[in-house]
Amino acid sequence: MTSLPEAWASLTDSEAVDRIAGVRSLLGDEVLVLGHHYQRDEVIRFADLTGDSYALAKGAAARGEARWIVFCGVHFMAETARILAEPRQRVLLPDREAGCSMADMAEIDEVEVAWEEMAAARDPGGVIPITYVNSSAAVKAFVGERGGAVCTSSNAGAVYDWALEQGKALFFLPDQHLGRNVGSRKGIPLDGMRLWDPSRETGGLGRDEVASAAVLLWKGHCRVHTRFDGKQIEAFRRRFPGARVLVHWECPLDVVEAADGVGSTADIVREVAAAPAGSILGIGTELHLVSRLARTHPDRTILPLLAGTGVCATMNRIDPQHLLFTLDELAAGRAVHEVTVPDGVAAGARLALERMLEITRRREAPRGALAAPSGLR
Ligand code: SF4
Repeated sequence: MTSLPEAWASLTDSEAVDRIAGVRSLLGDEVLVLGHHYQRDEVIRFADLTGDSYALAKGAAARGEARWIVFCGVHFMAETARILAEPRQRVLLPDREAGCSMADMAEIDEVEVAWEEMAAARDPGGVIPITYVNSSAAVKAFVGERGGAVCTSSNAGAVYDWALEQGKALFFLPDQHLGRNVGSRKGIPLDGMRLWDPSRETGGLGRDEVASAAVLLWKGHCRVHTRFDGKQIEAFRRRFPGARVLVHWECPLDVVEAADGVGSTADIVREVAAAPAGSILGIGTELHLVSRLARTHPDRTILPLLAGTGVCATMNRIDPQHLLFTLDELAAGRAVHEVTVPDGVAAGARLALERMLEITRRREAPRGALAAPSGLR
């Protein structure tokens, strides 16, 4: 179901694009448009800032003069921007249906039940909840209130170290693959990382398995990054001998192990920019980003690992028609699709986000270069 009136829904992409520039300049500095790397070109061309989710949320907070933040991304990103923004700033999501299927796999009610079930099997004081930034504000608040932290795909390793150095187990939400990949890199054996299935009692685990696990991995995943598998990498290398394969941390472990490098979205963007002219790169991440990287670096051969698939369907809901409608309404003095977070939830979520910042400040999490997967081999 679209939330778009017919007068906007019936516009072609190019008609909507032609009108956005006009209304954008009318609104001036009062409006800041943020564009996630996975957005389509017709949308991201209007972004004042582009980046990954956390960089955009921080960027919005730093541009306090902008009263309206129009977040071209998905719901959890707009929530994070709302939590970090100045109180006077207001955050709009052009399509209120633009969620993240991974974040939706960890509903707060399920997380609360799981924590209680886990606490019946072991002392919860020995477990730190960690949530990937791709989660709802309510889940972030739950984690923050229990001494845990948020992580991003750039700093998950540092957040892992922080928990392990306290001699604690991790309850990792909601992406099992990021949690497993980083845990493997830290030397935790696979049988020490147990999958918690929220649809089953006690996660589908025995009491001993819950009690002995070094990491409990929530059974969530990204529908884009789990389309890749190790066989595709083999096929890609056969087709393009000498190619370098870079993949996202949200891919399954066999993909990460078979790749030449693994990193966050921002890491992949940097790594591609640093590759020498003439390089052949196979990229295992969202297709809009891969196509844009190929256009931005025409002297390199940049190809999707898996041709024809890999668009994030929810990100793709933000189209020029929705962006135009949001801006037209603002120009008419109306705010549509505003994202709000109740004060109590925002306070708990802020705790978890600030803890992450403190951890990364102290540990100087590796930035810039992609991690070679040799540690996993
Ligand atoms: S690519 Fe995956 S994790 Fe990212 S917004 Fe889309 S569904 Fe969520």
